[in-house]
Amino acid sequence: MEIVFGPVPSRRLGLSLGIDLVPLKTCSLDCIYCELGRTAAPVADRAEYIPWQKIAAEIRSCFRPQDGTSPPQPDFITLSGSGEPTLNLALPRVVAELKTLSPAPLALLTNGTLFGDPEVRSEVTDIDVILPSLDTVSEDIFRALNRPAPGLTAAGLVRGLVELRREFNGEIWLEILFCHGLNDHPAEIERLAAACREIRPDRIQLNTVVRPGTLSSARPVSFGFLETIRPTFGKHAEIIVSFASASTDTTPIEKRLETILATLKRRPCTATDLEKALGLKPAETIKMLDLLREKGEIESRTHEGREYFTVPEGKGESAT
Ligand code: SF4
Repeated sequence: MEIVFGPVPSRRLGLSLGIDLVPLKTCSLDCIYCELGRTAAPVADRAEYIPWQKIAAEIRSCFRPQDGTSPPQPDFITLSGSGEPTLNLALPRVVAELKTLSPAPLALLTNGTLFGDPEVRSEVTDIDVILPSLDTVSEDIFRALNRPAPGLTAAGLVRGLVELRREFNGEIWLEILFCHGLNDHPAEIERLAAACREIRPDRIQLNTVVRPGTLSSARPVSFGFLETIRPTFGKHAEIIVSFASASTDTTPIEKRLETILATLKRRPCTATDLEKALGLKPAETIKMLDLLREKGEIESRTHEGREYFTVPEGKGESAT
């Protein structure tokens, strides 16, 4: 499957089945901490970046399997993407279809930049939990940290989230990611807290950079810092960063892709084999395998019901 991935354990959503609504890397932002790499050209224009027919075929075959297996029963079905999922014009049809295919609640992981558009807000009303991001309310920091597509502003992002809260009856869990030296100074924290009081999310989730992003200047703040500022955001604020899982791996994504390729040159592996052998997170493994497959660096085949990944012949030397 190219569009459906998982279910994978998610810190915020339990067992989450992901639906990728845009190809790598289609996004309205180019955040310096993004783990998916650079956005070559941030876009704010919506289109069927993955056609509805293709998404429909895959989600139907996932939830109505023809091979006698049971459909997945995740804690959440999560609309995400290798970029910004609300950019896909097929969003309302995907939401309606998933609601008929599965009783699992729907979550939307989004950077929130398109909620200024009433059309986009009307398309998400049946979603159960929306998890938008808001890292700054200052235009200069927005340009330095989130590097938006032309025409997008921090003020527009906040206005869109305020409107979303007015119209949307489900839960909003707002994530704020702090980068050392960019959005962690006292005045910005006060401004963010004021924006949160306007937006009134059900939860405010404080996070920081845990893995190398696009730029090395994306540096984390400490857990102690997050604990100190948490009360500023009120009783609905919580710290969601997992330093424990991040502390051991500061390897850039290119290096991790190389390690996966080197392992697969030696022997075919399942995603689980790679997670165990290389100490990777499940969601991260799936993303990196997707990326390598998209680039034609690896291929997969099924053996006794398990999907094995290999490096095609002629793509590098075989290992001894
Ligand atoms: S919004 Fe998300 S996908 Fe887009 S650049 Fe930022 S972190 Fe990456």
